[in-house]
Amino acid sequence: MRNGTLLKIEDLYVNFKTDEGIAKVIDGVSLDIKYGEVLALMGETGCGKSTVAKSILRLLPKNAEVRGKILFKGTNILDLPESELRKIRGKEIGMIFQDPLTALNPVFIVGNQISEMFKIHKLRIKRTILDEVIELLKNVRIPDPQRRYYSYPFELSGGMRQRAMIAMMLAGRPSLLIADEPTSALDVTIQAQILKLIMDLRNDYNMSILLITHDPGVVAEMADRIAIMYAGQIAEIGPVRDIFLNPQHPYTKGLLRALPLGHKEERELENIPGRVPNLIEPPPGCRFHPRCPHAIEKCKKEKPKPVVVSNEHFVFCHLLRGG
Ligand code: SF4
Repeated sequence: MRNGTLLKIEDLYVNFKTDEGIAKVIDGVSLDIKYGEVLALMGETGCGKSTVAKSILRLLPKNAEVRGKILFKGTNILDLPESELRKIRGKEIGMIFQDPLTALNPVFIVGNQISEMFKIHKLRIKRTILDEVIELLKNVRIPDPQRRYYSYPFELSGGMRQRAMIAMMLAGRPSLLIADEPTSALDVTIQAQILKLIMDLRNDYNMSILLITHDPGVVAEMADRIAIMYAGQIAEIGPVRDIFLNPQHPYTKGLLRALPLGHKEERELENIPGRVPNLIEPPPGCRFHPRCPHAIEKCKKEKPKPVVVSNEHFVFCHLLRGG
């Protein structure tokens, strides 16, 4: 497996122009993903996880204004002309969504949709495209792939559709797979199968994965590192074990206390008082300060910089530098 950084996001800002004003949805996010690594982005709904993911592939709507750098293998994706971007999107970087029905075209058979990937990206093939597609369907463990090639998306179960979507993404042998809540539309037993499949394929295809989720069980199962997001800012980032066992940021602590972390543990779930802020007028400084029980004056004025907790574990909180 190659060493080094595959993707580096530097100081990403995303604003959306809306009728009510400008929503400052991402506020200076920086993170990196190494070759072969699974990085999870976790946080409440609306914290900006999916916006970060869509920024990478420039899939944001027209009212989005994006600043910063997204370096993929050293090239800034945000500077690429559309023709160059198309060579990366779906080939070098694949994305799977929560509901594969939104990504699959309902009027074409699954096999043709996967075949398109070979044609669009002019992928090198050893056999016929039909054989390549059937091989991919086999790799994602779709039973009776010869028959399923000719199925329409509506003829497949949710789990099977997600497998077909993954097969489509694998055609280009991407270095990075972005999985945006890949199992939240599926029932629990199917979730486990899809997660296992993604992890097996990560090894077989030597991919890095950016996993967007709000499920700590999925993170514990799959990720090497985790970045906790709150209201468009990174609160804490580090190895999964360090964050789960030794969280430092008041929001991370609150979030972990508010989530069921396993059936062995018996405790009351807590909630974080207050509400997620309105991002048209976000709180200045640390965006968590109106809800933080430890906030000090500085928190209202200055955005916290990263503080090293231990190797690879960073927290963005003024408290950890003695106020
Ligand atoms: Fe709380 Fe201040 Fe730390 Fe933000 S920077 S989490 S408001 S103590």
